[in-house]
Amino acid sequence: MTENKPLIDPWSSNNITDYEHIFKEFGLKPFNEEWKKDLNHILFRRNLVIAERDFIKVLVRIKAKKPFVNITGIASSGPLHFGHKVDIDLFRFFKERGGRNYFAVSDIDAYCSRDKILTMKQAKELAVNNLKHALALGLDEKDVYVQSRKEQRYYEFAFELSKKITNNEFEAVYGHVNLGKISAAILQYGDILHPQLSEFEGKMPSITGIGLDQDPHARVTRDVAQRLGYDIEVPSFIYFKHQSGLREGKKMSSSEPNTAIFLDDNLKEAEKKLMSAFTGGRNTLEEQKKLGGNPNICKVYEMLKFHYEDDKELGRIYSECRQGKWLCGECKKYCANFVIKFLEKHQKEAEKKQKTAEKIVYG
Ligand code: SF4
Repeated sequence: MTENKPLIDPWSSNNITDYEHIFKEFGLKPFNEEWKKDLNHILFRRNLVIAERDFIKVLVRIKAKKPFVNITGIASSGPLHFGHKVDIDLFRFFKERGGRNYFAVSDIDAYCSRDKILTMKQAKELAVNNLKHALALGLDEKDVYVQSRKEQRYYEFAFELSKKITNNEFEAVYGHVNLGKISAAILQYGDILHPQLSEFEGKMPSITGIGLDQDPHARVTRDVAQRLGYDIEVPSFIYFKHQSGLREGKKMSSSEPNTAIFLDDNLKEAEKKLMSAFTGGRNTLEEQKKLGGNPNICKVYEMLKFHYEDDKELGRIYSECRQGKWLCGECKKYCANFVIKFLEKHQKEAEKKQKTAEKIVYG
């Protein structure tokens, strides 16, 4: 596992765009085109899931209608934004296909690894906020656990894991990181592997959807799974593209509030952010009409590509942008309407989930 390779920082807000380099360096496989036919979801159809490790093991289980572990979680340094919705969409997708479901509210991970979160009290308040939004996005409360309230066996297992990794291995994968990040990473390995213990589901393939920047965690988890001494399957991963921020360059991130649309953003604020997003438009109206825009670099189009369900309508916007039939101003307005409608409904639902989220986090 720990050959000396260039490092990816799983705690940074930079967006990875050089996919081929990462695939080659770290042995990721591009997601198989054939498999997409069996996985009817926009994240697959629109090439937003781009790579995998051992996904075939899970696909075989889905086709045979046999169970597999579906495990993911959120450790955010701030409120949830549209970029986080992808994690929940994928989790729900695998639940519908027979997953045994584990969704971690990673309050300890967030406290240990995020400089902005100064106390556990803050981490828990944030966990409540994140969870109420996740529930409003369709997460089932029965599938949720909170790291700080998890049973003893989970913690025993995390300690067992910690003895299987040396400092040198850690540094080869992550570089020099503080003890907080080491603790957070160990809990993540525990999150992914513990459902296969005999006290939970027992041995079976497992799937976790992550962004490419989380691959260091995936590599260590897979490696540790093979030398733990437990009879468990090496976990599978699929990798999705991160939705980028509304300006050029970074992924949508809680640490970059002006470039992210948060799920609890005031509607006017959300509209304002979208109306000033970076687009693929031309410098002048004439050029736009003559040459068309470039949706491939446009953050407005990207928002629709990640979240707008209607393939036909999305295709129409793409080709009409290319043909210069749309002006960016009207296109932004169209997208803003979609986002505002979504947020309006979502925020009402999230308010209804407040009490449930508090109960899950505080008991
Ligand atoms: Fe983006 Fe729409 Fe402008 Fe095309 S017309 S570049 S999709 S904002």
